[in-house]
Amino acid sequence: MKSYGCQMNVYDAQRMADLLAPEGYDETQHMEDADLVILNTCHIRERAAEKVFSELGKVRLLKAERAAIGHKTKIVVAGCVAQAEGEEILRRQKAVDLVIGPQSYHRLPELLRRTGTGESLVDTEFPLEDKFDHLPAPSRQQIFARGVSAFVTVQEGCDKFCTFCVVPYTRGAESSRPVAKIVAEVEALVAAGVREVSLLGQNVNAYHGEGEDGASLAALAMRLARIPGLARIRYTTSHPNDMDGDLIKAHRDLPALMPFLHLPVQSGSDRILAAMNRKHKAKDYLALIAKIRAARPDIALSSDFIVGFPGETEADFEATLDLIAKVNFASAFSFKYSPRPGTPGADMPEQIEERVMVRRLAELQVLLEDQRQAFNRATVGRTVDVLFEKPGRHKGQLTGKTPYLQAVHVEAGSDLIGKILPVEIIEAGANSLSGRLCEGIAPESLQWEVPV
Ligand code: SAM
Ligand code: SF4
Repeated sequence: MKSYGCQMNVYDAQRMADLLAPEGYDETQHMEDADLVILNTCHIRERAAEKVFSELGKVRLLKAERAAIGHKTKIVVAGCVAQAEGEEILRRQKAVDLVIGPQSYHRLPELLRRTGTGESLVDTEFPLEDKFDHLPAPSRQQIFARGVSAFVTVQEGCDKFCTFCVVPYTRGAESSRPVAKIVAEVEALVAAGVREVSLLGQNVNAYHGEGEDGASLAALAMRLARIPGLARIRYTTSHPNDMDGDLIKAHRDLPALMPFLHLPVQSGSDRILAAMNRKHKAKDYLALIAKIRAARPDIALSSDFIVGFPGETEADFEATLDLIAKVNFASAFSFKYSPRPGTPGADMPEQIEERVMVRRLAELQVLLEDQRQAFNRATVGRTVDVLFEKPGRHKGQLTGKTPYLQAVHVEAGSDLIGKILPVEIIEAGANSLSGRLCEGIAPESLQWEVPV
């Protein structure tokens, strides 16, 4: 199983593994050993989609090599490229046995049984039945093997139709899972040793339950925080227009809700935001950030940026740099605009030249990287709570996460995996922090001011 793209694909891949375990499939890290290869794909940018076709070329050769020594190999393309390209995948790569979209993968076992007789299948429907009702729960061993921090999809799809984005077409209309089912899933995870959940959705803060009164992401976080043993709650990805007062208050009042927020803004130019159909202005975003920081002063902020959206002028780009300078982000993702077939942006005049996008992206990333490094350096000398997740790169070391989603390496024994302990940060490297365990400090006293 090879997953590309977002965290929801990681979650979907795990659920496909859960579906296939009773069928006798076990995951392997070596593709040459695999009787079944699933590429769980991403369609968000052109390069992500092209990677899939180049990988399929390699898997086809492997299938032929294995066939020569009498082993059968089935190839499945799942995820958003499957949804968007459908039959076209079979046309471009005949070795593929099954193409299955993100809303129908609960049918994987049945469809797999039907393949292998020379027939290739495509299932890219948005079925009426809810796939979540057909997904088996993972075993305790499977949960344990996946670690102490788990993903849980709570919302899928999107109705916002930003003009650059394929998500509303590949993942379909916005829908939320019922509260009770999410609570049951998280309870099972916690019972098997999970300490942190990241609630996932393409537009996660639009969460509203299944038409349930009073259901919202804030209410869901409050409910989940009552599960004994669950220490940390995160969520991603949010839209600025769905960041309501209750959710902001939850950041103030709910200790389990981690002080990290990924809130994509895409651009700092009102003209470009309007062309993107984002339905907010730069000043609205800044006002929102001010409100969030007033509620939770130490919150670490993250965002997504697109440079080179059609019609973006130097002045528009400068406005994005200006917004970044005003907010001061702890981390961020930034991309060159990639026209996606079928989205309004792809047909807009004034597409921006590649060399201009390359230059703007480099300039933007210098600024974002400076802010990220400054944020990490500001942690040095402080004591923060760390959730220990797995063995580190070196012997005798563990890797964990701060509340602000920074990776930290600490000398510690593996018995501490799953524990949350105060750590004094001693060094900030390029991509992670180093720290030492402290003793005798009450974890509650560990708040610190974000470097604004
Ligand atoms: N729902 C989230 C939001 O509203 O911001 C984002 C979801 S999208 C999976 C993740 C990020 O990919 C977006 O925030 C955007 O920055 C980037 N992205 C989406 N479409 C893109 C495109 N056509 N070209 C470049 N980047 C794109
Ligand atoms: Fe895509 Fe996010 Fe816009 Fe929805 S809100 S269309 S997922 S960028």
